Amino acid sequence: MLVPRSVRSVARRLAVIGGDAGGMSAAAVAKRRAPELEIVVFERGSYTSYSACGIPFHVGGEVDPLETLVARSPEQHRANGLDVRIGAEVVAVDLGARRLTCADGSEEGFDELLVATGARATPPPVPGVEAAEAARTLEGAGRLRAAVDADRRGSAVVVGAGYIGLELAEAFVRQGLPTTLIDVAGQVFGSLDADMAARVQGAAEGLGIVVRLETTLEEVLLDGAGRPRAVRTDRGEIAARHVVVATGVKPEVGVAEAAGMTVGASGALAVDDHQRAAGQDGVWVAGDCSESHHRLLGRAVNVQLGTHANKQGRIAGMNLTGADLAFPGVIGTAISRICSLEIARTGLSESEAAAEGLDFVAETIESDTRARYMPGSERLWVKLVAERGSGRLLGGQVAGGATAGKRIDTVAMAVWSGMDVEELQWVDLSYAPPVSGTLDPVLVAARATAKLL
Ligand SMILES: Cc1cc2nc3c(=O)[nH]c(=O)nc-3n(C[C@H](O)[C@H](O)[C@H](O)COP(=O)(O)OP(=O)(O)OC[C@H]3O[C@@H](n4cnc5c(N)ncnc54)[C@H](O)[C@@H]3O)c2cc1C
Repeated sequence: MLVPRSVRSVARRLAVIGGDAGGMSAAAVAKRRAPELEIVVFERGSYTSYSACGIPFHVGGEVDPLETLVARSPEQHRANGLDVRIGAEVVAVDLGARRLTCADGSEEGFDELLVATGARATPPPVPGVEAAEAARTLEGAGRLRAAVDADRRGSAVVVGAGYIGLELAEAFVRQGLPTTLIDVAGQVFGSLDADMAARVQGAAEGLGIVVRLETTLEEVLLDGAGRPRAVRTDRGEIAARHVVVATGVKPEVGVAEAAGMTVGASGALAVDDHQRAAGQDGVWVAGDCSESHHRLLGRAVNVQLGTHANKQGRIAGMNLTGADLAFPGVIGTAISRICSLEIARTGLSESEAAAEGLDFVAETIESDTRARYMPGSERLWVKLVAERGSGRLLGGQVAGGATAGKRIDTVAMAVWSGMDVEELQWVDLSYAPPVSGTLDPVLVAARATAKLL
């Protein structure tokens, strides 16, 4: 990665499609570096720079009001010189003529284009599903919270037990609603190994969430007013006044693909390491709609996380104003708090390593978040996966009480830098009784894993 110093003379007009993490990071940094650049942002919703990540915490009543989730409003961006249009959906782009068309028929020209259209929910195509919320936008979050506030006697069903489904099920329980979480799969949180996922399920059930696995949604049953009253599954009916479908998302690439941009095998837009759209001059991509290079798998993947969207937007914004920065890739690091449990992962899980045909060992240790004699110490588990023979760390997962989860960052740094578990067990990590055991649990896990090599 080169250090960006130069700001070249840039194109006159940049159009940005999508006004959240990817789009606004790019627009803001480009404007700071090249004030003469005219930047027009098209956002089909009514908010910019919002935290979709905070939606479950608003629904659950931890974060109020909804606008707290907005980091920078359209007005604030405009005050910084950006021409931000909200309620402006781009429906077509002509890359040759350098023109785009909005849903209201208006047309705008551009010299360079940044596509940051994010991802869209893919609910199962069952009757009544349109009455369920996807909880992906602030508008949707506002509707959901208003419905809960208006009817706390009803119960809730969340369809899809990934991290977003789990966070939303917790939100409903925190609002006092009996809540059922259903999923077609045999475990919650599919990106974790089954042993770690079982701990998450235990934490969810401990808070009162009813978890029904291997259960398929067949219909959302509506009352006379068109509101949910129950869901029908292949295992029977469950009463539900509030239904959220969190069964997955796909990169939002329709307009870009129709314009001739390349969609990669992951379903997201293909880019080079500078966030340049594959085969296109002056066209950039950032965020959930973009492919990312996976440093361990050695191929392009689509990982939809706010942290990547911000970095990729920043890199695109710098490069389109003359810098020479490469996005170094991803390794699958993610974290969540599910009920009483912090849960995190990085690199390859055991099942991913097996799917890649790698020869590996895996070990899980149980430890404590602080010295066991200290008040507030809670249990935690660290699982590491390492390549047999070389001992190279392939990945890790952490579950446990408060403060456990961020230990994944130590593991991520070790995976990122290609460290092996023999070396990791001796790394100089900190210790004091109120924050850690004498040996940090990551070191203990590295030692246990090294023994298996
Ligand atoms: C409930 C929830 C919880 C999450 N929690 C986390 C978390 O804890 N950690 C984490 O890292 N990530 C989390 N994420 C993911 C994170 O929010 C996304 O990765 C991030 O928002 C991606 O930013 P983006 O700019 O690429 O896309 P988006 O945020 O989806 O923004 C894209 C924008 O483009 C607009 N748009 C799309 N098409 C058009 C068009 N044709 N014309 C005009 N505008 C258009 C959309 O309206 C949208 O505002 C969560 C997401 C959700 C929904």
